[in-house]
Amino acid sequence: MTAAADLLGPDGPLAAALPGFEFREGQVEMAARVEEALRRGGTLFVEAGTGIGKSFAYLLPALLSGERIVVSTATKALQDQLFEKDLPTLQEILGTRVRALRVKGRENYLCRLEWARFGEGQTPWAVPSATRDRDLRRIARWARTTRTGDRDEIPGIEGPLDFWRSISTVAENCIGKVCPEYDECHLTRLRRQVQRSRLLIVNHHLLVADRLVRQNGYGRILGDYEHVIVDEAHRLEAAATHSLSVTLTSGAARRLTTEVSRFWKQDVPGKRPPAAAGRLRRRWERLFDGLPRGAPGEATAFDPLALPETAMEARAAAQSDLEALDSALGEVGEGLRAPAARSAEADPPADPKAGADRLRVKVQDLRDDLEMLFAPREDFVHWTRAPARQGAAARRLPLGAAGRRRGPGAALFATVAPIHPGGLLPELLFDSLQSCVLTSATLAVDGGFSHVAEELGVSATEEATIPSPFRYEEQAGLFVPRGAPAPTGPRFAEAVADQVLELVTASRGRALVLFTSWANLERVFRRLDGRCPYPLLRQERGAGSQRRLAEFRRRGNAVLLGVRSFWEGVDLPGEDLTLLVIDKLPFPVPTDPLQRARQARAQERTGNGFVRYSVPLTALALKQGVGRLIRSSSDRGLAVVFDSRLKTRSYGRRILDSLPPFRRIEDAAEAVRFLEELP
Ligand code: SF4
Repeated sequence: MTAAADLLGPDGPLAAALPGFEFREGQVEMAARVEEALRRGGTLFVEAGTGIGKSFAYLLPALLSGERIVVSTATKALQDQLFEKDLPTLQEILGTRVRALRVKGRENYLCRLEWARFGEGQTPWAVPSATRDRDLRRIARWARTTRTGDRDEIPGIEGPLDFWRSISTVAENCIGKVCPEYDECHLTRLRRQVQRSRLLIVNHHLLVADRLVRQNGYGRILGDYEHVIVDEAHRLEAAATHSLSVTLTSGAARRLTTEVSRFWKQDVPGKRPPAAAGRLRRRWERLFDGLPRGAPGEATAFDPLALPETAMEARAAAQSDLEALDSALGEVGEGLRAPAARSAEADPPADPKAGADRLRVKVQDLRDDLEMLFAPREDFVHWTRAPARQGAAARRLPLGAAGRRRGPGAALFATVAPIHPGGLLPELLFDSLQSCVLTSATLAVDGGFSHVAEELGVSATEEATIPSPFRYEEQAGLFVPRGAPAPTGPRFAEAVADQVLELVTASRGRALVLFTSWANLERVFRRLDGRCPYPLLRQERGAGSQRRLAEFRRRGNAVLLGVRSFWEGVDLPGEDLTLLVIDKLPFPVPTDPLQRARQARAQERTGNGFVRYSVPLTALALKQGVGRLIRSSSDRGLAVVFDSRLKTRSYGRRILDSLPPFRRIEDAAEAVRFLEELP
């Protein structure tokens, strides 16, 4: 028996110290596997069913290993749980004092240099408003005393701040070692703490982004490590895609040149900003006018080699404008001096020389991103997207020469992203590791890991599928209505709403209804509104899930309608949730250029892109959604999936087999009876 397994055993110290501790064989098995992987090296894939207590099963071996280990999660909620709850509990019981640190992404920390300029109104975001003035005063008080620079610690500010990114330590704001604030920089302090720590809790974005360090940037924060444990590993590919992508907006040049103009006005008095700034703005607009644009919210693929000639010319000209701006900033920066006095306690004074350096970083970043966005690469896909809702204000914006509306509401986003991040991840991350544990409650399809291995570009040296300790057969039912209208048909949403009404009457509310699209959610909501006998709640666009979930819990008998952000991470143990309804199979959106390119790649490789790419992806997403229902050993409930393709299509069996083994319910009458019998 291994050391970690001893500790998790029925007579171990955890059982003695933790009230309600349940011995779980699966937890012991996982701990032993992780311990072995850390000792021997290699890559372990482990699917750990809900309820086995996987965080203890990897934290314990990590604490005992004596190695420096990075633990990466997809969500902040899990990071918080590991750092604030699980680790202190284990350290106390074990009597260990392993130095652990939670490291957030760079966008979470305050850049002292940028803050000084912002405070003096030198950035284009400093538009006065009462709320912003109040927030700025709070930040100013906090900035003088904070030791961490972590924005989560600013008293009185909880929600998002629209200007925060522009004063954060993100790479595009950072001039690295030449920064006059470098020694006092919150990143420098953080890096020192990282070096002293043995266990680092990070998120997937930081894990990947930290490896993509710019030449002139700050450098890596996480330093060197050889062991990584990735929890919520089913989301690593998406995080890697995001970190390896570049997105530019039609407003990027306007923002940069406004900042350049302000800098010149303030720090280079008597001289006009370089002519390249004005030219860049016009050429940028011409470039974005030449890109394809679909309906709001829709993505439209483009081939960078097949753009109109005007756009090609504008792009080349914008590159030379950026080079000219870079040289002009370099020259003017040579003649500027840093202020003499500075202290760690007071706000640092704005430093004109550093201001020029910082603008150069932004110019160089934009130049690199522009280059990357339009470089034709076989393994990358390019697309544009207009914001989903442009609103009445945007529709009133004046039309430009090419018939495009101008102004912030008419933004267009252009993105380039890797089709297969797994082609880049080995060199970027996996090849330099001695051991890597990839775990999640949803990692395997058909009991195997070939899908995730292909996605991430890494093969397992060891694999384990550890089932949940829950008695799914007894605790839950699964109902796929026979003869439901086709999910793409015109009457589908109405049929879902009518059936939901019947089911929530039997379940006395306490229902979560998950949708694959906003359109279906809205239709079902309209049909239920006024007819549903229980409080009817719906997710709001652009809002997080927490407020609605809190209301759902408070009401005790509500029916909550949500889209994709509710499919994962929602944890509603107990009787609050007894009915889970899913409108249809969460297939990748067929019009999404990235998904299309990925399926085409799978088609080329395997001869059947749909079966080898879309079906496993759908099975994993459905498994996540269904996983919201049973969260503890005493939960009971019914899951309903309104998609007849599960019964009529050949891939349906494969998807069903990937779900937890709930008791199969055959007809609506049995489903109603099942719900009525629940406590
Ligand atoms: S080193 Fe970079 S992040 Fe830190 S204060 Fe300077 S510019 Fe800001």
